[in-house]
Parts: sequence; structure tokens; C-alpha cells
Amino acid sequence: MDASHVDGDLVNVLFTEDDIRAKLAEMAEQIQRDYEGKDLLLVGVLKGAIMVMADLSRAFSRHVEIDWMAVSSYGSGTKSSGVVRILKDLDTDISGRHVLIVEDIIDTGLTLSWLVSNLSSRKPASVEIATLLRKPDALQMSVDVGYVGWDIPNEFVVGYGLDYSEKYRNLRSIGTLAPHIYS
Ligand code: IMP
Ligand code: MG
Repeated sequence: MDASHVDGDLVNVLFTEDDIRAKLAEMAEQIQRDYEGKDLLLVGVLKGAIMVMADLSRAFSRHVEIDWMAVSSYGSGTKSSGVVRILKDLDTDISGRHVLIVEDIIDTGLTLSWLVSNLSSRKPASVEIATLLRKPDALQMSVDVGYVGWDIPNEFVVGYGLDYSEKYRNLRSIGTLAPHIYS
């Protein structure tokens, strides 16, 4: 669906479909350079990262493998609970593998620091992070983020995989949700 289909729910459109595609192509090019000659396993975090994974992975001109984890940290609200649970684990044994976690957004970074230490304990060759969006609070987290699409203000955004109460994931663009929707 397009922003015009949810007119009134969004304060603004931050990034259009074209903006996103161009940014992911840029990121893929850099990742490809950095991992030249190395095998690469992309690990997506369900469900938010589905669109990023689909478009980022197709922007590569080399083989990559794809696996998924599902973790829960948010419930259905707009605030991080700080509690991370594995809902679905990897199918892949990552020992000795180069792992790149693919994320839609990093807010507090709680989910990600937990994920990085969880995956690191499985003895991979490396663990890096690629995220399309990053919020200001994430700058305080201890984990390094190797690849960032855009830094955005501390507002609740939806679309392109990002949801509010499981809605708006199928919006083509990314926009700021109007406060009257969640307050
Ligand atoms: P963190 O643990 O605070 O970094 O939050 C990570 C997860 O919270 C993300 O993977 C998203 O699922 C969700 N999240 C954080 N900010 C937003 C937002 O602005 N819109 C939609 N989901 C968000
Ligand atoms: Mg997510």
C-alpha cells in the first residue's frame, strides 16, 4: 500500500520506495566490498526486517545465505520492554561463519546487544550489524553498528516492515506515525 492509502495516519513520509531502494543498493555495495572472498550469512530479525532483507539481499551480485530469527522485545506498544525472548531460532549452525545481522531499526539497542552476545557465544567467525534506520538512543549502546542506512529523530515510524500493532508493515514507504493513532 502507498502513503495515500493511509492518509491522515502519517505526519510525513520520511523515505519513499525509491529512496529506500537506492540506500540499500549503496549498503549492499559496501558490504560486498568488505566481505570479498568470504562466505556471508545474512540473519534477519523477524518480522520487521523482512522488506530490508528482501531488497538488500537482491542488491548483491554474489551469493549470500539467508536465515531468520524471531525475537520479541516490544509487545504491541511503542515502548521497549527490555525483555528479549527467542520466538524462533536459526536453522543454521553459525560456528566459523561470517554473520551479518540485518535489522529494520535500532532504537534502544537492547534487542541487538542481546542478539549480538547470543550469536557471539556460538563461535562465529564474525558478527556484524546492518540496519536501515537508527534512532538517537542507539548511539549510547555498547555494540558497534557496521552499516547504517539513515539516522532518524526519536519518533515512532512505520512502513517497509515496521509496524504499529502489526499494521503498516506493507506500506511501501517509511513515515512518521501520527500521535493520535497511538495515544
Ligand atoms: P530496541 O530494542 O529498542 O532497539 O528496539 C528494537 C525493535 O523495536 C525494532 O526491531 C522494532 O521492531 C521495534 N521498534 C523500535 N522503534 C520502532 C519504530 O519507530 N517503529 C516501529 N518499530 C520500532
Ligand atoms: Mg525488528
